[in-house]
Amino acid sequence: MLYGSLNIKDGRLFFEGRDLTDLAKKYGTPLYVMSEDKIRENCRSYKSALGSCPCPDSGAVYASKACSFKEIYRIIAEEGLGADVVSTGEIYTAYKAGFPMENAYFQGNNKTDDDIRFAIDHGVGYFVCDNFEEIEALDRIAGEKNIRQKILLRVTPGIDPHTYDEVATGKVDSKFGVAIETGQALEAAKLAISKKNLDLKGFHCHVGSMVFDSDVFIRAAAVMLGFFKDVKDSTGFTATVLDLGGGYGVKYYEGQGEIDIPANIKELSGYVAKKAEELGLPVPALKLEPGRSIVADAGVTLYTVGSVKKITGYKNYVSIDGGMTDNPRYCLYESRYTVMSADKAGEEANLKADLVGRCCESGDIIQPGCMFPKTIGRGDTVAVLTTGAYNYSMASNYNRIGRPAVVMISEGGERIAVKRETLDDLIRLDV
Ligand SMILES: *Cc1c(COP(=O)(O)O)cnc(C)c1O
Repeated sequence: MLYGSLNIKDGRLFFEGRDLTDLAKKYGTPLYVMSEDKIRENCRSYKSALGSCPCPDSGAVYASKACSFKEIYRIIAEEGLGADVVSTGEIYTAYKAGFPMENAYFQGNNKTDDDIRFAIDHGVGYFVCDNFEEIEALDRIAGEKNIRQKILLRVTPGIDPHTYDEVATGKVDSKFGVAIETGQALEAAKLAISKKNLDLKGFHCHVGSMVFDSDVFIRAAAVMLGFFKDVKDSTGFTATVLDLGGGYGVKYYEGQGEIDIPANIKELSGYVAKKAEELGLPVPALKLEPGRSIVADAGVTLYTVGSVKKITGYKNYVSIDGGMTDNPRYCLYESRYTVMSADKAGEEANLKADLVGRCCESGDIIQPGCMFPKTIGRGDTVAVLTTGAYNYSMASNYNRIGRPAVVMISEGGERIAVKRETLDDLIRLDV
């Protein structure tokens, strides 16, 4: 089997010990199923790897854009991770969930004055400042509110993690952060240091997503620590936090690359300690911001088949009751997924077909070229695996389709974590 948490019993697909066909019947489809135990296991794996770093303030910060609703923030808080937030919506959700906001990191390349006020009023611990204007605005607003705001400064180390352009953000010409190479990052650091209402703690970068190469973070750390040294030499300021962002990849399909994350973190933290010493710097706290690798493999999406269209001599389509509204990732990035029949998992899968959604859009494809049992037909249950990241959080109401429910399963039971959007929810804001 592809993943440890999946197995087939009596011809049906089970995830974390649950019969997925039963869940589909019980809660309706489309349905996001998320395993709380898996999320916790992923958090703990980061926590224990970062917990053995030389600097005791090291730790993981969950990038909540990957999957954001109240129950997720509660789990993350219980596991002791921080949370990245990128909008007032994410801040509000975390706040309402009781998340300890001093562990929240406010990201983003355009925070409005209103966003800044909202974040300060809700006690956000750190701002990850992206640009000169934000430094000025944040200093001004923090002054008005009589606080000294802790910040990290986001810089671009010029590292290309060998991924698609859409998910590569550490390059010099990125819209995020200020470039080290051009000298602008040093200027921004000097500006931040000069501001009396800002308390610069360190520097942040995020080189991109779906990182599988074991040297990506080490190369980023090398450039970043060189920058720590330049800042120290030219200003006397010693940074104490090195935040290398997110991006470890996860396995979406058989034959894809894999990375041993704890082993990679161990190697990385050893490198950071050695390099800092070489440069005559104190060993900084190492922060990582995993999003996908915390939630992706904790999620499965379930659909019900509506039609199987066999266009003789051309191709076959299996149409389901969801689509790009609940999973836009194939449309956006041609992302690959593993698709399986849930109720006929024991049958041989020898019918090749595209799994397509119900939206009025030919590009509404969940995954092309999937293999299904020959008997697949209306009413059957299909599972798309590894959908815990960037599915619910990227879902839309295109064609006025409501977002699916999220059911959270765990060893101890199951509960609805997010309700299914109703027709009345869809017209709630219309006047
Ligand atoms: C998206 C993002 C992350 C998380 O990336 P994953 O690939 O989901 O791990 C972390 N930090 C920042 C700043 C991001 O933009």
